[in-house]
Amino acid sequence: MITFFPGPSKVYKQTGEFLQDAFQQGILSISHRSETFTTISKKAITLLKEKLHVPQDYTVMFTSSATECWEIIAQSLVKQESLHVYSGAFGEKWYSYAAKLLPGARGIQIGDNEFIDPLQLPIIASTEILCLTHNETSNATQVKPEILRAIRQQYPELLIAMDATSSMAGVYLPFSDADIWYASVQKCFGMPAGLGILICSPRAIEKMKEVGENEHYNSLKNIYDNIQQWQTNYTPNVLNIYLLSRIMEMVPDINKVEARIKEQALHWYRLINRLNDLHLLVNNPDVQSDTVIAVKASKEIIADIKSKAKSEGILLGSGYGSLKETTFRIANFPAIEEHEIDKLTKFLENYKFNS
Ligand SMILES: *Cc1c(COP(=O)(O)O)cnc(C)c1O
Repeated sequence: MITFFPGPSKVYKQTGEFLQDAFQQGILSISHRSETFTTISKKAITLLKEKLHVPQDYTVMFTSSATECWEIIAQSLVKQESLHVYSGAFGEKWYSYAAKLLPGARGIQIGDNEFIDPLQLPIIASTEILCLTHNETSNATQVKPEILRAIRQQYPELLIAMDATSSMAGVYLPFSDADIWYASVQKCFGMPAGLGILICSPRAIEKMKEVGENEHYNSLKNIYDNIQQWQTNYTPNVLNIYLLSRIMEMVPDINKVEARIKEQALHWYRLINRLNDLHLLVNNPDVQSDTVIAVKASKEIIADIKSKAKSEGILLGSGYGSLKETTFRIANFPAIEEHEIDKLTKFLENYKFNS
């Protein structure tokens, strides 16, 4: 089965070999306080910073998931008010998780085809942090670097947090234009689920100290203090941290990865535009995602195409949330190979809805 699910998604084909190495080298039984572990953890972080172009003064930390990062940000980096601007289900979920911890959280929903206008942002004196979804996996939209840059210039003092769960390691991220970036590894990293990556700027760390929150096992201060020794505050997913070190070693520089991903995205957008039965959920090229493509059609066509694809060994990504029955998604993640893209391309080109 070839999978185009946008998470959990296809893992790199080398994963089997890396897993075998981990088993044979005894890594599955090591203590997370041992030097063997800290060496692996340091290697994973160092290579991640190098390959993804993370600024040297930013801190890379491990969490269990992106969902956990939603709570860590609300509990450890905000006193009262976060502002969330979103167009899809993940941004909305982030807002609703934040609102449970912060009664002052504010959320603003924009349309699928709308981009964030920096001049229209309702930032007020009490806004401590702006929360944006870099790549909204549910509706396949993305915050383009020019928009983020313009927001940064408009509000140079404001902390900005970006959910890059389905774009980190797939496209180049302009890290210095935001303060907090996070992802989980079952999307563009091409890894099995169960590890989150949280990246903070020196300013975010300052804010963490100012907030001074230290009441939870996952208080950012705990995580931050432990990572100074390449360690974690609890027994982490050592296997996945090991896999991350191997995968970061293996992948090319992010600029190279991005060039391929963008070219493939263009291919998918052109192809869908050419087909009669299928339409793009998002037509505005200023917000179209490079790493997830959402395709819209009638309920009948969506059900039909998913089942016909399945019988040819292709798993199309289901629509998410309210878009479940009227869309499918194509993950355009780095671990997906050219022959797989060719197979789906041929399938879509030949697809006819005739029942
Ligand atoms: C998948 C996803 C999440 C949730 O990731 P978990 O690993 O399940 O916590 C959050 N945000 C976005 C944009 C996602 O795509």
